[in-house]
Amino acid sequence: MFIGGQWTEAQSKKTFETLDPGEGRVLAAVAAGDKADIDRAVGAARTAFQDSGWATLPANDRAVLLHRLADLIERHAAVLAQIESLDVGKPRSQALAFDIPHCAQTFRYYADLSVRTRRREPIAVAAKEAWSVRLPYGVCGFIFPWNFPFLLVGWGIAPALAAGNTVVIKPAEDTPLSTLYFCHLVEAAGIPAGVVNVVTGLGESAGAALAQHPGINRMSFTGSPEVGRAVGEACGRNLVPMKLELGGKGAAVLFDDTSVDAAAEALAAAVTLNAGQVCCTATRWLVQDKIRDRFIEKAASAMKGMAIGYGGEPATQIGPVVSEKQRQRVLGYLDKGVKGGAEAILAGGVAEVAGHRNGFYVKPALLGGSPDNVCAREEIFGPVAYVMSFRTEDEAVELVNRSSYGLANSVWSADLGRATRVAEKLVAGNTWINAHNVFAHGVPYGGCNLSGCGGGVLGPDTLEDYFRKQSVVRPLA
Ligand code: NAD
Repeated sequence: MFIGGQWTEAQSKKTFETLDPGEGRVLAAVAAGDKADIDRAVGAARTAFQDSGWATLPANDRAVLLHRLADLIERHAAVLAQIESLDVGKPRSQALAFDIPHCAQTFRYYADLSVRTRRREPIAVAAKEAWSVRLPYGVCGFIFPWNFPFLLVGWGIAPALAAGNTVVIKPAEDTPLSTLYFCHLVEAAGIPAGVVNVVTGLGESAGAALAQHPGINRMSFTGSPEVGRAVGEACGRNLVPMKLELGGKGAAVLFDDTSVDAAAEALAAAVTLNAGQVCCTATRWLVQDKIRDRFIEKAASAMKGMAIGYGGEPATQIGPVVSEKQRQRVLGYLDKGVKGGAEAILAGGVAEVAGHRNGFYVKPALLGGSPDNVCAREEIFGPVAYVMSFRTEDEAVELVNRSSYGLANSVWSADLGRATRVAEKLVAGNTWINAHNVFAHGVPYGGCNLSGCGGGVLGPDTLEDYFRKQSVVRPLA
């Protein structure tokens, strides 16, 4: 673990193992932190907030250090992509093309934005001199999931650091390694000791201790709605402001004037990206009657043709899921879905990868049928799509909005007027037109309802979230 600028074991000396999901073998033994280590980390972050000068550094100087960190991430991209691929199972080429550079750019985006953000702003009011001040909160806690461990560290902590806060991170127990490597880069960038602290450990011990800690000033959780509720309750008791970035059951609505081939290719790629372990991906495909059969044929053929393999091999398009537990979850849903009446257009199931027999591979699956099926309603988090048909625009909107989730959907149509109209009727944090999974710095990304609350990431408002606002008023005589 990395606490107060020191590499340290857990106080209990306990460890846990992280696996290579592509081989099913142990990659490393990692310190199993618990409450005692979280106490140390929050203490170190508090000391750094008060004494290291980080919080009071001119925004320009802090931005220089964050750009230096981004430079180092870019310089170490090959190693980081290798670690991410080994620990998560994802294709190394995807980590190198997306996860690592996007994380670096997030530090650059918030560093630049923080320089342009006024710390003091006058407020026009009669008979008084008044102004508002933006100040960092103090210590911010972060708990992350295992699907994009490195990318999410950037999305989470970059705005918090740019605002002058210090942070304590609890990475997912399945994928702690890239976050630990990141700490070397934090040190090399010259960011003061204690500004970034990482406590590795299990959710119910280290994670719960961080969420419940009275010494944190803000909390951010990314993960499942069930754990999000527990984190939210703990923060509520301590009156700690928090944001929750939770799961999703995204829909793609395809009108019959869309290009069937292009949409089928794009959605097959979207639902198998990161072996389907993507919170915002399109897992419910709503297809207008007239193009249903042609779309299903094209999409099923694209999914069947994808190369399942070890993340380190260049040809691999779909790596393993992160763990045997996750594989069983996916297989269990397929079983329940079919028993519940879904048609198995592509049945999915265990995939055998030659030379990597112990890895946690699954074949992509395409189910179809009633919108009431469990696979049409619940988040599976694997390469599984569920296809349904609709007749009218209103029916499509109703079907999408039936979900308790509200993270991301897409609308596919050659008629941009209709696509825009429908996009704005879908209840979610994000809607894309004629594409799915589109991210850009400056465009807010977040969820509503079961998908989260308290503000999203990536947008300019996220920097605001990490400033505590204070007003100062002097009555004029
Ligand atoms: P999870 O909720 O099981 O775990 C997330 C993190 O919480 C892990 O670090 C875990 O150790 C920790 N944790 C577990 N129990 C805890 C407890 N009692 N108290 C505090 N922390 C605890 O989620 P997961 O399985 O790692 O990730 C998958 C989920 O994350 C999916 O639902 C996915 O949609 C969601 N997700 C959402 C976003 C987003 O931006 N909205 C991004 C990525 C993933």
